[in-house]
Formats: sequence, structure tokens, C-alpha cells
Amino acid sequence: MPFESLIEAPTTDPSVRLRRLNGELRQASSQTILRAAIVREWPGELTYVSSFGAESAVMLALIADVDPSLDVVFIDTGMHFPQTLDYRDELIDRLGLTGVRTIRPDETERRAEDPKSMLWKTDTDACCALRKVRPLEPALKGYSAWITGRKRFHGGARMNLPVFEFADGRYKVNPLAGWTQDDVDLFMAQRNLPRHPLVAQGYPSIGCWPCTQPADDPDNPRAGRWAGLDKTECGLHIERNDRPRVF
Ligand code: SF4
Repeated sequence: MPFESLIEAPTTDPSVRLRRLNGELRQASSQTILRAAIVREWPGELTYVSSFGAESAVMLALIADVDPSLDVVFIDTGMHFPQTLDYRDELIDRLGLTGVRTIRPDETERRAEDPKSMLWKTDTDACCALRKVRPLEPALKGYSAWITGRKRFHGGARMNLPVFEFADGRYKVNPLAGWTQDDVDLFMAQRNLPRHPLVAQGYPSIGCWPCTQPADDPDNPRAGRWAGLDKTECGLHIERNDRPRVF
């Protein structure tokens, strides 16, 4: 029986809808979760926010299987490794993605708040707010839901990640929540997907160059992100009311 016929019509109450979605799809495959989100739940109202980092090819390939024209947002912070920008272009080409849109920080704000591009040295929260969090807010307007590539094995606040969430007026879909590093590696090999070039240089998680370094802790694949700081998330996945004041 197709999944479209398994449930009642979507409700507008987020808590009821979340309960239904997590109840129905918590144990489902990533492919089933994605199809449900793209085709049934939020057709035309869903986007994927991708870092084009170490694991992004997995989600992008799964999305391409369902709809290669799905809207995908890439935040060009101005601080990415050049390899990341090349990798973005390579994956777009390889997977036939036609909906990728690159957004950037507001240039007037960047000149005012970080004219020398050194803000990361003194205030990473303010830098992430300027270069990631604030640019994404207008880019998500018009979408009822967005897909993320977060996984529980990343640790920290992600350890209890549900498949569906609701935050700041929008649903989040986490089809890979239950994936492990082995799942990622196996899928990449089976699909012959190109790896981000920095993975071979010891980077298991890749963000902006000033805040990313190689790491070899299998229990903490994000150990190389903001190493030495108390920071583990850029802020995109911190609810508005819980963010530091600069956000
Ligand atoms: Fe700035 Fe680092 Fe955040 Fe990138 S990850 S926006 S460089 S603080």
C-alpha cells in the first residue's frame, strides 16, 4: 500500500502532526522519510540546507533520487575552504541538481561588523550570526519545512535528535538521524559518490576554514569544529529564544 494512503489528512497543529509523523516514520528508511516529506507532506514548501561538507553527498544523492529539482540552500559564508566550493559544483554536476541556490551574508552588515574578516578570532557566535544564521532566515521564508543532514552519532545536542522537529514556526526533517559513520561510508562507496577532498586529509566534519581542523576522535566526529571552544553548533539549529543575544 502506498504511504500516501496510510494516514489521515495532515493537521495544522504542529504537535499533533509531529506525533503522527514521528510515530509513523521514526523507524522508516531515509528514502521513505524523504519521499513522504517531499511528495506528501510539504510539496513545493520544502528545502534542504546543505553545507556541502564531509557527509552532504549522501543526502543530496537521496534527494536526487526523488526530485533533483528540489530547492537546496548553500550558505557561502565567505570563509569556506576553496575545496568546498569546488565540491559543491562537482556534486551539482554529478547528481544533476537543478535547485541549488547560494546565499551570502548581507554585504553592508559584513562591512560594518567584520570589515577585516577577523571576527571569528574574537567572537565566533557573532561571526556565525552574521555569516550563517541571519542570511538563512530570509532564505527560509515561504518554506514550511527544511531538511537537515544532522545525525545522532555527531554527539552533543544531536544525540537525541528526532526524525521530525518543529522550531521557530517551521518543521525540520532529519532523514539521516539514525545513520552511523559506517552507514555513511557504505552508502558513499555503494553509490560511488565523490568524497570531499579534505576527508582524506583527516577532516571528518568540514565547515569554515578558521573553525575547522583535522580530528581523529571516532567518538566525536565534530571534535575539529571550533576546537578548544565551548561551541559545538553554529546556531542554525538553536531555537531563536535560546540563542545568544547577538543572534
Ligand atoms: Fe565565522 Fe567560524 Fe562561524 Fe564560519 S564557523 S561563520 S568563520 S565563526
